[in-house]
Amino acid sequence: MRIGVLALQGDFREHMVALAEIGIGAVAVKTAEEIVAIDALVIPGGESTTISKLAKSFNLFDLISDRISNGMPTYGSCAGMILVAKSIQDPASGQDSFGGIDMVVKRNAFGRQVDSFEADLDFKGITEPKVRGVFIRAPWVESCGPNVEVLAKVEIEGNSHPVAVREGKVLATAFHPELTGDFRVHRYFVEEICKK
Ligand code: GLN
Repeated sequence: MRIGVLALQGDFREHMVALAEIGIGAVAVKTAEEIVAIDALVIPGGESTTISKLAKSFNLFDLISDRISNGMPTYGSCAGMILVAKSIQDPASGQDSFGGIDMVVKRNAFGRQVDSFEADLDFKGITEPKVRGVFIRAPWVESCGPNVEVLAKVEIEGNSHPVAVREGKVLATAFHPELTGDFRVHRYFVEEICKK
C-alpha cells in the first residue's frame, strides 16, 4: 500500500512524519505520474484555495477528483477537509473542491474570536483518551448527506458542529492531528480505511 501526501502547499511534511511514526513510508506527491502510482492519499492542512488553484494549474485537479470518486482511500485535514467536500459554502473565487464526501463545509467557520483553539474530542472508533483537536482557522461541516458518518463534534454556543466525518473510503477532520504527536487518527485512516 503506497500512501501519498499531496505536496502542493501546506503542512505535508508533518503528515509524512506522522505516517512514518506509525511505520508507513509515505511519498510526497505533486505530479500526475506520482498520483497515478499511489493507493491512498492524504491532503494536508494549509490554504484550500491555493491548493485547489495549484492542482488546476498543474493539471492534477481532475485526476485527483477522479481517483477519489473511484474509491481511492483519502484523508483530508483542515484545508484537506474543504477539498474533499462536495460543496464549499462561500468559496473564494476560483476555489473548487475535489469532492468525496457528501457535505457542505464552511470555511473559517469558528470566526475570529476562536480562530485557533484546542479541544479534547470524543472520536468514534478511537478509544480513550480523547483526541486533542488543534483547530487553526478551521472549517466545520455545515450539513451532510445520509451516508456520512459523523465521528467527532464540537459544541459552540449551544450548537454542535461535525469536525470529523467519514463517507466510505474518505475521511476528513477539521483539525490537525499531525501536529499533536498523537497519531491515532492516522492509524485509524490506515487500519480502518486503507486496509479494509
Ligand atoms: N482556513 C484555511 C482554508 O480555508 C484552512 C486552514 C488550515 O488548513 N489550517 O483553506
